[in-house]
Amino acid sequence: MLTREDGALQAVRRRHELRVLEALVENGPRTRRELEEDTKLSRTTLSAIVGDLRQRGVLAESVKEHYGEGRNGRPTKVLTLDPTAGAAVGIELGRARISVTVAGFDGSSVAHELLDIDPAMELAAKVSRAVGIVRSLVDSGVVRGDSILGIGVGVASRHADPASLADDDTRQSDPQGASFEELRLLLDAPLLWDNNIRLAAMAESARYALASEDLLYVVLSTGISCSVVVKGSPLRGGNGLAGELGHTSVDFEGKPCWCGGVGCLESYLGVANVLAEAAARGGSFASIAALAAAADDGDEVALGVIAWAGTLLGRAMATAAMIVDPSRVVVAGELSQCGDRLLEPVRAALAARQLNIGNRSTVVGMGASAPSSGSDGAALMALRHWALDSV
Ligand SMILES: [Zn+2]
Repeated sequence: MLTREDGALQAVRRRHELRVLEALVENGPRTRRELEEDTKLSRTTLSAIVGDLRQRGVLAESVKEHYGEGRNGRPTKVLTLDPTAGAAVGIELGRARISVTVAGFDGSSVAHELLDIDPAMELAAKVSRAVGIVRSLVDSGVVRGDSILGIGVGVASRHADPASLADDDTRQSDPQGASFEELRLLLDAPLLWDNNIRLAAMAESARYALASEDLLYVVLSTGISCSVVVKGSPLRGGNGLAGELGHTSVDFEGKPCWCGGVGCLESYLGVANVLAEAAARGGSFASIAALAAAADDGDEVALGVIAWAGTLLGRAMATAAMIVDPSRVVVAGELSQCGDRLLEPVRAALAARQLNIGNRSTVVGMGASAPSSGSDGAALMALRHWALDSV
């Protein structure tokens, strides 16, 4: 068992280790001398850290050609991060799938696994499945427990208590009905969880690699999920409930919503509601993909329904943009298959609500819709929380 002093020493060592890792992520391969300068660590400390990281397979030391020969005539050796060493494991426990991403120290994806599941599956059962996937990654050597800095988990439709995400030693409580203990023990690493759409939005924002961008991410699917990403971090809100675009009203005289509101966007633009609207207009489409394909063929009903959906989305988006002023709006989920036909009314609505107090420009585009977005974002959250500012 660790004593208090051991714990403190470990914390110092970990901070030193992170300085070395950050220097390598930021600058690429470095000689030991360069690392000494980068990290301001003593030669002895650096040597101990490097030795340990090499043993754990995180660093490799090799002769770098273009560095030429050192002063003593010997070729210069450089330390390189092993691109296959996993630094964080991200897991999305989605509604209909489980996705696992292993991210390297530079944030790149080292491995990805995807499993389709029954949407009726309980959260605890999803955790067990995820544990099985991670265990097989450990057994096959893709994940080494001793290089993992932390675990991130994205959970569908639950919002983590923002207070428990504070950057201190307080351990976050697990979501109701599930325990993440098995994951923590398996990888011997700390774990943090949040809403999966927020994490997908974070991964989406990292794609643009523009830290100055404020992004509004909307997933139009069975329901509507939305997340605001400010300077690369998802906005959680004072109660963990930020981003409920689906429950802003687009019609104050409209239909009642399960949330208690009236005329909520989600009551119209959930996939089933869009297909029902098409049916009411005399069109029969089995899916949004079929609706989008019919629109491509010039089907009047399909075109009309998509324009109607885009207009409602534009109405909600214009209100959100008034408050958030995002530089980019990203639309993902099944409905995004309708493409620019859906987005044009949104762009028009934003342009029409241009204020006379300053130029506002917002790019409205499609999301990457990568099935790994949620787990990529979860891994990114872990990397940023426990380690690397440079990711
Ligand atoms: Zn509602």
